[in-house]
Amino acid sequence: MKNSYTEENYLKAIYKLQELQASEVSTNDISKEMNTKAASVTDMLKRLSEKELINYQKYQGVSLTDSGTKVAVNIIRKHRLWETFLVNKLKFKWDEVHDIAEQMEHVESDELIEKLNDYLGAPQYDPHGDPIPSKKGVFTNKKMEVLYDMPIGFVGNISGVSEHSATFLKHLEKIGVGLGVLVTVEDKNEYDNSFWIRIEKNEPLFISKEVAKNLLVFNK
Ligand SMILES: [Zn+2]
Repeated sequence: MKNSYTEENYLKAIYKLQELQASEVSTNDISKEMNTKAASVTDMLKRLSEKELINYQKYQGVSLTDSGTKVAVNIIRKHRLWETFLVNKLKFKWDEVHDIAEQMEHVESDELIEKLNDYLGAPQYDPHGDPIPSKKGVFTNKKMEVLYDMPIGFVGNISGVSEHSATFLKHLEKIGVGLGVLVTVEDKNEYDNSFWIRIEKNEPLFISKEVAKNLLVFNK
């Protein structure tokens, strides 16, 4: 049974919302995430429910069924493998690849995706530091933490970002913060919760609370 691009995008959105919140996902949450009217969301939810991809009852929360989860995780796998390919092999910048991967994630051929995975050396993380699920849908569980929560004196590596907007990624590039670089927390400013960090052995760098909250690190 083939799913349309829109259906796949809904499943992906519901998956993302389920990850973010402990409670059940509401029609309202989905309509915000998908940027569409609640009425069109309801229509789509009925369709997905008929295909047994989601559990949905009117006026109640929405959750993915096992087969819905499988579809969503597979799209995420394809998305993240394509992003890795675009950055590592085609030399796109990490802020340029998301929109392209949004198109490529809908490719149907499993054979292509498995060959892509082998070609890339079965990577565990995409260029934003997000884990790439295996073919069986298993995510690696090395835990990332938020830079903002780290104490003064912390030393680790930038492992990802929790905001994927191009403006944020361009900003990081401008201030010289990239994936994998060594970061030290030099000082925190109590007044506005901004940070002084050091990237590799460079001069100390001032970053706002916002930036610190959107940077993920691996604890050494
Ligand atoms: Zn992306």
